Amino acid sequence: MVSHSAMVPSMTTNGGFKPVFCTIVPPHVLDRLAQAEDSALSGPARRSLEHDAYQRTKRRLTTVLGAPAVAPPIGAAADRPHRTVYDARHRQDLPGTKVREEGSEPGTDASVNRAYAGLGATFDLYLKAYGRNSIDGEGLPLDASVHFGTDYDNAFWNGEQMVFGDGDNEIFLDFTIPVDVIGHELTHGVTQHTANLTYFGQPGALNESLSDVFGSLIKQYSLGQTAAEADWLIGAGLLAPSVHGTALRSMKAPGTAYDDPNLGKDPQPATMEHYVRTGRDNGGVHINSGIPNHAFYLVATAMGGHSWEKAGQLWYDVLTGGELKQQALFTDFATLTVKAARERYGAGDELEAVRKAWEQVGVRTL
Ligand SMILES: [Zn+2]
Repeated sequence: MVSHSAMVPSMTTNGGFKPVFCTIVPPHVLDRLAQAEDSALSGPARRSLEHDAYQRTKRRLTTVLGAPAVAPPIGAAADRPHRTVYDARHRQDLPGTKVREEGSEPGTDASVNRAYAGLGATFDLYLKAYGRNSIDGEGLPLDASVHFGTDYDNAFWNGEQMVFGDGDNEIFLDFTIPVDVIGHELTHGVTQHTANLTYFGQPGALNESLSDVFGSLIKQYSLGQTAAEADWLIGAGLLAPSVHGTALRSMKAPGTAYDDPNLGKDPQPATMEHYVRTGRDNGGVHINSGIPNHAFYLVATAMGGHSWEKAGQLWYDVLTGGELKQQALFTDFATLTVKAARERYGAGDELEAVRKAWEQVGVRTL
C-alpha cells in the first residue's frame, strides 16, 4: 500500500518549481576520496559527504513545503543584479554574516569578491545574451555564502542561495575560483524554472549538461572568448597543484579532465557507444552528460565566433521554448535543437552543424 506521505514528494506547492540538489563535485568522486588511506584526504571528503547528505534531505523537505517566495526588492532595476554575499565563518549555519551588498566596493576577502563577481557574470550572460532577468526571469535576488564549514569540498545551489566551501587544499582549492562552477549551479535554477528536467537518467544528464553548457558560456562571455579560444573545461583552477588533472570535466574531450591516484579517472563518455549504465549518481547524471556536452562543443566550434550567440541561443531556445518534456531523452533534446536551428537560421550551415554534431556523438535526431 502506498501511504499518503510517500506520495507527497512528487507534488509541489509552488507552481511546479521543483529544485534539484546538485553539488559541483558529484558524490561518486567524494566516495572514492573518502576511501583514501591518507586521512588528510579521506577526512574532509567524509565530512563533505555528510554535509551533502544533510543538505539533500533538507532540500527534499523544502521541496515538499514549498520554498519561501523571494520577491525582488521594490525599486530594483530589471537590468541589474541584486547580490548579497555572506561569510559562514566556517560554520554550517546559513547564510552567515552579511559582508557585501549590491554596489558596494570589493573588500579584502578574495572568496567574497569572486563569489560577487561570479553571480554578476551569470546575471550578465542571461540578461545580455538572452534577455532573461535573473534565474527565474523575474529578478530573483542572488545570494551566496562563502567559507561554509571546515575544509568543505563542494559548492551548491540549495534552491535559495549559492554555498561555497574552501576546499581541503590537498585535492580541491577554494570553490569560488571557477566562474563556470557558479554558472553551472545557478543554471540548475534556470532549468527548474523552465523545462524542469527530471534529475535522473537521460533527462538528468541533460539537466547536468545544460548547467555545464551555460556555465562554460558564462565564463566565455565574461572573458570575451570565441569558441576556438575557450578551454571548454568545467572547474579549471579548482584542483590542487599535486592532482593529476586540469578540471572536473571537459566538454572538448570528455573523459580526459583528470586521471589521479586519489581521484580516479574522469568517467565521462563522449559518445553513445560508451554510454554508462549505472544506478549511482542518479543514474550517471554527471557521467553521461559528457555526450550532450560534447555535442554542444561540436556545434559551437563548427559555427565559430562567440558560442553564446548562435549555438547558445539554440540551446536556450530549447530549454525555454516549452516543448522540452521533463522526461526528455537525448534524442528528444537533439531533435528539438534541429528544429530550433531550422526555425532560427533556415536550411543552412547552422542546421547542418547541429545535425552533424549529434550524429558524431551517436544520438539520433528525428
Ligand atoms: Zn549540476
